[in-house]
Amino acid sequence: MTTLPPQTEIGFSDFVAQSWDDMLSACTRCGKCVEVCPVVPFAPGMALADPVQVVTGVLDFMRDSVPLPETSATWIRQCNGCGDCIPACPEGVNPRKMLMMSCSKVAEVHNPTPHVFRKMARAIRIMVSMQLVPADVARLLRPPQARDVDVVFYTGCNPIRTPHVLFNVMTVLDHLDIEYEVMGGPSACCGIVYSKWEGDLKKGGRVAEQTLHRFGDFKPQKVLSWCPSCQIHLGETIKGYREVKFDFDHITQFLLEREDDLIARFNTPVNKRVVVHTHHGLPEVGQAVLRLLRAIPGLTIVEEAEEPGYMCGASGSDRSPELKAHVRKDTITLCKRDDVDALVSLFHGCHLQLSKEGQTHGFQVVNFTELLVAALGEQPCPDTVEPFRQLNDWRAMVLEAGPMLKANGINMDPEELAAVLPEVFTSAEFRGGLCSFAPQ
Ligand code: SF4
Ligand code: SF4
Repeated sequence: MTTLPPQTEIGFSDFVAQSWDDMLSACTRCGKCVEVCPVVPFAPGMALADPVQVVTGVLDFMRDSVPLPETSATWIRQCNGCGDCIPACPEGVNPRKMLMMSCSKVAEVHNPTPHVFRKMARAIRIMVSMQLVPADVARLLRPPQARDVDVVFYTGCNPIRTPHVLFNVMTVLDHLDIEYEVMGGPSACCGIVYSKWEGDLKKGGRVAEQTLHRFGDFKPQKVLSWCPSCQIHLGETIKGYREVKFDFDHITQFLLEREDDLIARFNTPVNKRVVVHTHHGLPEVGQAVLRLLRAIPGLTIVEEAEEPGYMCGASGSDRSPELKAHVRKDTITLCKRDDVDALVSLFHGCHLQLSKEGQTHGFQVVNFTELLVAALGEQPCPDTVEPFRQLNDWRAMVLEAGPMLKANGINMDPEELAAVLPEVFTSAEFRGGLCSFAPQ
């Protein structure tokens, strides 16, 4: 699928360096990207910062390795990927890409999340093995044999933690008679974890290249992602690293392209009044979901609850906790209203977080994929994290999950597992936690 002959392919470090050369020569340091950035008024120590100095600190760090001023470091750390800065740049630089790429060098200088890929891979394995029988685990984690298909459905890594949303997407693709194959899990990472979180461009580039090659082995017309981090990493941050012969897009855009076909198959009313959770960072995803949900018979959308960043979680809105808390309280207030039956989650990370909020504040959370499947007259794949969440006791969860874990070949000491589950369930590796999974 790579069309450039190997001798002309540049390495990933050179690709990143070239991207920086382009951004550094185009950027006039006008500071407009900082001025419009919604995290700035909420981020500690940034409200009064000079926008020009903030962006200059980032650029000097990248060009000359000048130590990062505190406000510039905070800006990088708190960037939630909302993308508001992109249209604000008069020079056509993509400041979101600039900050995503800055994270690599920050992690290279001082990595606050060491061994995150290794920890994540193990945490995902445990979490999915608690929920699914081996054949279903294999469907999500075992690399499929290459064959010619129209579509590769690319799950990414962390969405495997909430497998029901992925199986629901597959049900929708089945209804649309799409010839597809599923790829995902840590063995098909997009490379963002190594390059952005560990600052290891060599591994990040190798992983991305390997995954792109494997997509190409299926000769697909389209590779459709679920995970918004993969979408931004492969589709924006490192776009152009390798030439490919397929379109890369988010699954929701594909469903929107086929909305007439999909809507014609909606045959079952879903009598609910819902609030729909969306994100600012990939607005087209939220808009597609709203449009498809509006076509479901019986379903009433009471309101949209847009939150910052491109998703919930460590890569998205959690990076700017003050801004997130400010908006989240409004989402919760909305969902507690008597005329609302449920909150509809968007991505996997959103679903995990919001379900916990629902448990705490007494409202139901469903993923939009469940509603699509229900409208197609099928039983949606149930949220298999939910029964564990309801137990609300880590030891009880280990006891409950024991047989399934054993069937999936995981034989951890029950006490050790109970101690580590709170971190596994909250992706603590992306906060520098889950240290017991690091190499000793
Ligand atoms: S992507 Fe959003 S949070 Fe990040 S710098 Fe741009 S405006 Fe700020
Ligand atoms: S808005 Fe564009 S040109 Fe101005 S500082 Fe930001 S990236 Fe540079």
